[in-house]
Amino acid sequence: MLKKNFLLSPGPSKVPESVMLEMAHPIFHHRTPQYQAIFSDVTSALKDIFRTKNDVFVFASSGTGAMETSISSLLSPGDKIITVNGGKFGERFGLIGKAFGIECDVIDVEWGKAVDPKIIEDKLNKDKSIKAVYTTLSETSTGVLNDIKKIAAVVSKTNAVLVTDAISGLGSDKLETDEWGVDVVIAGSQKGLMLPPGLAFLSVSEKAWKLVEQSKIPSFYFNLKKYKKSLDKNDVPWTPAITLVLGLQKVLQMIKAEGMEEVWARHARLAQATREAMKALGLKLLSDFPSNAVTAVRVPDGVDGGKLVKKLRDEMGITLAGGQDSLKGKLFRIAHMGYCNQFDVIQGIAAIEEALAALGYSFEIGAGVKKFQETWIK
Ligand SMILES: *Cc1c(COP(=O)(O)O)cnc(C)c1O
Repeated sequence: MLKKNFLLSPGPSKVPESVMLEMAHPIFHHRTPQYQAIFSDVTSALKDIFRTKNDVFVFASSGTGAMETSISSLLSPGDKIITVNGGKFGERFGLIGKAFGIECDVIDVEWGKAVDPKIIEDKLNKDKSIKAVYTTLSETSTGVLNDIKKIAAVVSKTNAVLVTDAISGLGSDKLETDEWGVDVVIAGSQKGLMLPPGLAFLSVSEKAWKLVEQSKIPSFYFNLKKYKKSLDKNDVPWTPAITLVLGLQKVLQMIKAEGMEEVWARHARLAQATREAMKALGLKLLSDFPSNAVTAVRVPDGVDGGKLVKKLRDEMGITLAGGQDSLKGKLFRIAHMGYCNQFDVIQGIAAIEEALAALGYSFEIGAGVKKFQETWIK
């Protein structure tokens, strides 16, 4: 059978052909007016999609590099923070904090549920020494959307700063950085931003910058003060990922042309139709508060989730993601983020139906695709 490879995984996600072509340009030197013009354009366009007037820093690293920076550049050993373990990525903030000698008050949330902002409020009221609250917009491992707007309303009344990992959420789920009062927003290139892996982003508010100035954790490559000194001269401290930044310029033009509100609306519509399609197949969703970036679906009884994802990838060329840690084998995750329209998702749903049928799950063939289209067309 002719196999075509197709990415519907929650990172890396598909890259537009026009962006691939942009990145095929011959490499040029970065300490030049040519690069400076591109970098200046990109840093200003990034502010638009981050919905902020704050500086947005660009790192040559995967998203985790910016997560680490949000701890190492803001805190000092012995500082106390709140982290939320409601999935693999929220858990990661706690692990990074520990690695830097930070005292982490971890809120454990059942994977598949969103964190209750009231718990954060109570903790902040009880302990005024808490420096920062680390949260996740779209928890990619569970498909949960946390209520960052409500959490920001709580945190902004205190001396603590709010850090939000929007690595998969940015560009998929609504995030109003300045309006809501989110101090630090983190993103990555390979999810909603339609680029290959390799860039990470971090915006920093004035309130958070005060912490940067007090921070006593040693750092070098990811030292935000160095980045700030360079950024003020429209420059970067180290060799940037020039090729990816070229692609980024193109991507930001695409998002601007579509319009941020329209981008959010497209994701909301894709996600809604996907959820309805999965329910029409008799499947259950993991999250009650679903993200518009990715839909996490419980594998039905009698079907081996590992086999399902492997079959889709190895035999049918469609890459979805499975479950992680305690959810391994119990979940599949279909992404509808970034360079994705209704026809991409329909392919994915058709493939899921074919694989489920092959693995003996009983349902009405075509019910998922039909429901997707009915929901989409409405
Ligand atoms: C993918 C992802 C990360 C990790 O990013 P890397 O680029 O793999 O380092 C962190 N948080 C969230 C929410 C993610 O989706």
